[in-house]
Amino acid sequence: MDIINYTDEHRMFRDTCKKFLEKEIIPHVEEWEEAGIVPKSAWKKMGEQGFLCMGVPEAYGGLGLDFLYSVILIEEMARTNCSGLAASLHSDIVVPYIEAFGSEDLKHKYLPGCVSGDIITAVAMTEPNTGSDLAAIKTTAVEDGDDVIINGQKTFISNGINCGLVVVAAKDPAADNPHKAVDLYLVEEGTPGFEKGKQIKKAGWHSQDTAELYFTDCRIPKDHILGEKGMGFYMLMEKLQQERLACAIGAVTGAEYMLEITLPYVKERKAFDKPISKFQANQFKIVEMATEIKLGRTFVDKLIADHLEGKNIVTEVSMAKYWTTDMAHRVADQCLQLHGGYGYCEEYPIARAWRDTRVMSIFAGTNEIMKTIVARMMGL
Ligand SMILES: Cc1cc2nc3c(=O)[nH]c(=O)nc-3n(C[C@H](O)[C@H](O)[C@H](O)COP(=O)(O)OP(=O)(O)OC[C@H]3O[C@@H](n4cnc5c(N)ncnc54)[C@H](O)[C@@H]3O)c2cc1C
Repeated sequence: MDIINYTDEHRMFRDTCKKFLEKEIIPHVEEWEEAGIVPKSAWKKMGEQGFLCMGVPEAYGGLGLDFLYSVILIEEMARTNCSGLAASLHSDIVVPYIEAFGSEDLKHKYLPGCVSGDIITAVAMTEPNTGSDLAAIKTTAVEDGDDVIINGQKTFISNGINCGLVVVAAKDPAADNPHKAVDLYLVEEGTPGFEKGKQIKKAGWHSQDTAELYFTDCRIPKDHILGEKGMGFYMLMEKLQQERLACAIGAVTGAEYMLEITLPYVKERKAFDKPISKFQANQFKIVEMATEIKLGRTFVDKLIADHLEGKNIVTEVSMAKYWTTDMAHRVADQCLQLHGGYGYCEEYPIARAWRDTRVMSIFAGTNEIMKTIVARMMGL
């Protein structure tokens, strides 16, 4: 029995996605990896096809589609083996903050551009001295009349170069409770005092424009706050469920993809006069991977179904984020090993998949932090 009830519309959408990605994305991946960035024109094409922010209501320019459409897009994008075009970060992680917590004015001002691809978004929480411990951020937001002045530095910000709008986590230095001190503000590209720093050279994710962002006496209107003052930390916690679920979906699909591209290779490649798939050691390895992937898929599909029903699945999503991303590491490593020397060469897609998988246990909350969340939920 299928865990997720995809309709014919969903299935048609998956076909449309596949065709679009094959034509407009996959042929350019090598070029973007070399360039270290995905051009804004690719984002625009995604927007024109209706592939960005599909859940945004029609009143703000969106299609008001259910989260399953996002799931399909996340899965099909994971199969492109291109992590640079972080459309899910934009559509399923950043824009939902604006949609859920922005004022009507902010929603009318920004959401249509987010849907069309004219505005690319980023979320800036991490700082050079703190990532896991969000309450320890140093970036400040101080009220001054009708404005707020932001000062601080952010690092590792995905879409950091391309972004036109950033959700910035900043702290009110006057607040006593560190968890109530954090607020989320919308800062537009071009605002005086907001500068994009250098693009960070990374071990993988070469076409993703991860960058540092600087805020120096950056003055924004006070009403660019998301939600109520003092609630930033809680808003982040609420929305991280979907971020971690998206990460788990990407990890399981990535693992499925890596095994899929490895199977024909092991059947074709010969050693000692027989295909390497005929060695029992390799067969066991492959069967173990297929089993782990199936377990991950079953767990993640169940969580997708629960998330669609609006259930609180913070504990299970934290388990899934750590387990599926660790599993994807194991699969990446084994699949590369099965390719022998060719696995380490750029002309084989497993090389990029292997290095791009590594970061998944670090971002969206490290896997250790996932375990601390589960331990807390278990009353430990
Ligand atoms: C490619 C990439 C993209 C990213 N994109 C974004 C983005 O768009 N926006 C954004 O805000 N951030 C982003 N990040 C930052 C990412 O979320 C952080 O790197 C992550 O949260 C970890 O923070 P840190 O690097 O400061 O590590 P630290 O917090 O310094 O942790 C270092 C190590 O200590 C462990 N550790 C820390 N605390 C505990 C604990 N209590 N118990 C056990 N172990 C612990 C961690 O698990 C980790 O292994 C990105 C990072 C990367 C690499």
